[in-house]
Amino acid sequence: MIDFNRPPFVGKELDYIKQAVDFGKLCGDGEFTKRCSRWMEQQFDVNHILLTTSCTHALEMAAYLCDLQPGDEVIMPSYTFVSTADAFVLRGAKIVFVDVDPKTMNIDPDCIEAAITEKTKVIVPVHYAGVACDMDRIMDIAKKHNLLVVEDAAQGVNAYYKGKALGTIGEFGCYSFHETKNYSMGEGGALAVNDNEAFERAEILREKGTDRSKFFRGQVDKYTWVNYGSSYLPSDMNAAYLYAQLEAAEEIDKKRHAIWNLYDEALRPLAERGLIEQPFVPEYAKHNAHMYYIKTKDLAFRSELIKYLHDLGVCCVFHYIPLHSAAAGLKFGRFAGEDKYTTKESERLMRLPMFYNLDMKDAEYVADCILKYPKFN
Ligand SMILES: *Cc1c(COP(=O)(O)O)cnc(C)c1O
Repeated sequence: MIDFNRPPFVGKELDYIKQAVDFGKLCGDGEFTKRCSRWMEQQFDVNHILLTTSCTHALEMAAYLCDLQPGDEVIMPSYTFVSTADAFVLRGAKIVFVDVDPKTMNIDPDCIEAAITEKTKVIVPVHYAGVACDMDRIMDIAKKHNLLVVEDAAQGVNAYYKGKALGTIGEFGCYSFHETKNYSMGEGGALAVNDNEAFERAEILREKGTDRSKFFRGQVDKYTWVNYGSSYLPSDMNAAYLYAQLEAAEEIDKKRHAIWNLYDEALRPLAERGLIEQPFVPEYAKHNAHMYYIKTKDLAFRSELIKYLHDLGVCCVFHYIPLHSAAAGLKFGRFAGEDKYTTKESERLMRLPMFYNLDMKDAEYVADCILKYPKFN
């Protein structure tokens, strides 16, 4: 069976975990946590990176740092993972879902503008498949209406918009290092922050409401409880796994692009005959090959194709069921404007196996099986 995903492994992970144990500091903010943060701050050109226990938690931190009041509205695509919405629901915000651009499955800036009310406080663009949203337009809208921007860059680690790393353009950026993402630590994430004052609040929030981070830097002589907070630090053992992956970032990125390009070239004849649609990457986006998907004619066609591939030992999967139609989505949010594309396009989208350790021969086999699908011939 060719799996849909396997956690990435490059080779040095276990060595580094052993080193973390030998350093004798397994809690958060140890040596490997520092190395990961420094690496990302340099690579992504951002002032501050805080490693977290997940992207969900990075989003929760961002939602706290936006100082939302109950009833405030947060605009996001309905086509996203539950955590994007959950983080803001936990702060009492009302979620306002809007439609996506069918070419990228990213939030449509025109729909954002149309959904803004007196109560709107935050816009949450989600960089689907690691392909950048139209950030100039989104930042312009935010500026004009005095809104904050929290980037859900869970899938957008080491991907770029006009040369800027995704997650570093809005006020806050949230990354995921879940085992399904490009760079992994099993479960984990990070919060990217440029503003120094916001970073100080984030540090306190992440360390149970204490100024412990300042204490360790020798900026205060004892640490105390200074505000509300929680615990969002991963163990240094997890950071050790991640550091091995970050060091190998170029190699991981290259391999993923090789798989992505193989699928894209092999399946082009089907797209040219109008039988499928392929992903679109705008000029302004440098993507990270997080995902390869195709779109089929409709839901029934997709279900049959998934079954056909499964019988040949290939595991392909569909993706998000739009949040606005889920029970919690109805309770905590509303869809603003018309659902022109979200539902229709989500029903057609199918993801192909994509992970660092995928054999190129297996990727060829996947493409070959699709090309030979009787309904395409
Ligand atoms: C994976 C993902 C998340 C959640 O990441 P975790 O690290 O598992 O919490 C959030 N948003 C999007 C768009 C994702 O793809």
